[in-house]
Amino acid sequence: MYCTWKLKELKDELKKRGAKITVKKADLVERLESYDRNFNFGNQSPLASQSQAIDVPAVELYQDVNSSTIFPKITKKHIQCYFDRFNTNISDAVKLYESRYLLILRSTTFAEDTYLKGFCKASMKQLQYEVNIKLNNDGVPEEATCECAAGEGKEAHCKHVAVVLVAAENILKEKIILLHEVSTSQLQTFHKPTKKNYATPLRASRLPSKRDIHNIVYSPYLKQNPYFDKKAFQCRFQSLILNIHTHRCP
Ligand SMILES: [Zn+2]
Repeated sequence: MYCTWKLKELKDELKKRGAKITVKKADLVERLESYDRNFNFGNQSPLASQSQAIDVPAVELYQDVNSSTIFPKITKKHIQCYFDRFNTNISDAVKLYESRYLLILRSTTFAEDTYLKGFCKASMKQLQYEVNIKLNNDGVPEEATCECAAGEGKEAHCKHVAVVLVAAENILKEKIILLHEVSTSQLQTFHKPTKKNYATPLRASRLPSKRDIHNIVYSPYLKQNPYFDKKAFQCRFQSLILNIHTHRCP
């Protein structure tokens, strides 16, 4: 069938499929036929994948979702309805969401539609996938796309899309969102005394000690100190003042 095609048509068709282009017409025809036999070798041309992606607003327009963000009323029913079309259950996604697999959730409103952008951790790999979802005014998911292998096209129904939808539903209903936590997200729980001391403060001189402490004077007042040596004190004081630049002592 390709034998009747012109050289330019053949080249254009091969370009579309992301195939190599050579000069000989016979080679081009053979290549096209083999691409047909092998379903394009799993490749999709950049043109085709672009047309499958949904149009989303610019990244700058998105804002982080919090309890005061205005959303269309998205419910668990809406989410289940969307996934029922693909015979998918969202219970796995709820578990993933509760295990804090969602990294970021942002949203924006554009031409009466609400767009959600979320980043979800992959469950088995050290990866994160970007999820884009378009919601209509009633909170029904219209289009969704995900970066993962299962999330191609405009009607992605992978677990990452479900996690983002469940998170949006949760923040609307409970006003809380469970995001992935880093190790410093919560205050440390160690280095805190487990017992509180309610006893009256003890004088230092009455503290239990094994050492012989009869000679030590705890009183900060010099006059009450029977061992106070006035001359020695004056000497020390003078020395401190004179050598204040070189001293590190207080
Ligand atoms: Zn996905």
